[in-house]
Amino acid sequence: MLADKDRIFTNLYGFEPFNLEYAKKRGDWDGTKDIIAKGRDWIIEEMKKSGLRGRGGAGFPTGMKWSFMPKEVNERPHYLVINADESEPGTCKDREIMRHDPHKLIEGALLAAFAMQAHHAFIYIRGEFYHEASELVRAIEEARDAGLLGKNAANSGWDFDITLHRGGGAYICGEETALLESIEGKKGQPRNKPPFPAMAGLYSCPTTINNVETIASVPAILKRGGEWFAGFGNDEKNTGTKLFCISGHVNTPCVVEEEMGIPMKELIDKHAGGIRGGWDNLKAVIPGGSSTPLLPKDICDTVLMDFDSLREVQSGLGTAGLIVMDQSTDIVYAIARLSHFYMHESCGQCTPCREGTGWMWRLMMRLVEGNADIEEIDMLLDVSKEIEGHTICAHGDASAWPIQGLMRHFRDEVEARILEYKKAA
Ligand code: SF4
Repeated sequence: MLADKDRIFTNLYGFEPFNLEYAKKRGDWDGTKDIIAKGRDWIIEEMKKSGLRGRGGAGFPTGMKWSFMPKEVNERPHYLVINADESEPGTCKDREIMRHDPHKLIEGALLAAFAMQAHHAFIYIRGEFYHEASELVRAIEEARDAGLLGKNAANSGWDFDITLHRGGGAYICGEETALLESIEGKKGQPRNKPPFPAMAGLYSCPTTINNVETIASVPAILKRGGEWFAGFGNDEKNTGTKLFCISGHVNTPCVVEEEMGIPMKELIDKHAGGIRGGWDNLKAVIPGGSSTPLLPKDICDTVLMDFDSLREVQSGLGTAGLIVMDQSTDIVYAIARLSHFYMHESCGQCTPCREGTGWMWRLMMRLVEGNADIEEIDMLLDVSKEIEGHTICAHGDASAWPIQGLMRHFRDEVEARILEYKKAA
């Protein structure tokens, strides 16, 4: 179990006030100026050493992402955009940072922005996070009043400020380019890529988009050193500590910071009070937010919670939002419900996603009852493959994967329902 001294998010549960006075007692804003004095190359190098991979779901190496920004600033300013849209079902970690430890995010934003030569950052927060946005505004204002933001931020010689932008509650605005469109005041629809945001992002200027947890981890990494962070985890590609959100049929649902690569069973037993009715009552776990394919109990028995271990079992770490389902779960209906979500949240630009998500949901609802032919299962899988990889953004993939996971592991159950329905007809 991760020792308390190794935790980055020491006020995750809000036992202390979030304000600047207490944040400083927890070590925030300590030596920020000295870190900046080491220069941007040092910062980026240290981030690369840490092995930190983006915590928003895709897992792209953070230091490398920052290094994609142009080396020179021309007439187009550079921007840092922080994705606080956190809308993936099963995911509730960034909100804990924003409402209980916002100064880690603000300090991290200054350090990251300096590294990529940005004088301005936007935090895009989902509209429903009213409380979190209110706390964040207060934290930004007190940082400004204390000279930690604005001209010569934190006495570093770097001018930097933050704008908080509240979204309207569309899931697709968590996709980084739809998010940029939304900030620009347009309809939140993903852009075709290339160009990538590092070349033409917000207002067509070089932009890096990072998740809240990623940016909030930066101060601790730079203060303790990239090697310290890289010392956690199973290998050099899966490093550090990570926030896990555990919900569903566990005894004590929670958000907890743990070492990357912790066994799933240990994570659930130690922190979430175990499965309701005991481990043997487990049916399946969606390991990384709703879009990652579910895993049946026999895989959950041994799987490790990191990017590559979960990829090896044809799922993913995603946002590390575990949705736990015990034997009482109607697994077909659970996945059908997710299909409805992806249908509802499709932005409608691409035909496979716009038409396919609705088609898959309608068939899934028939499968819940068993009112289908066995061959339609393969047809459903074919359609999911036609959507996957054939759309502008990953929403298409996200709608296909839960269904593919269901059929991979619980096809027998789906077929049994069809046979039963036919028998009763
Ligand atoms: Fe919109 Fe879906 Fe296409 Fe993404 S995949 S751009 S959500 S229609």
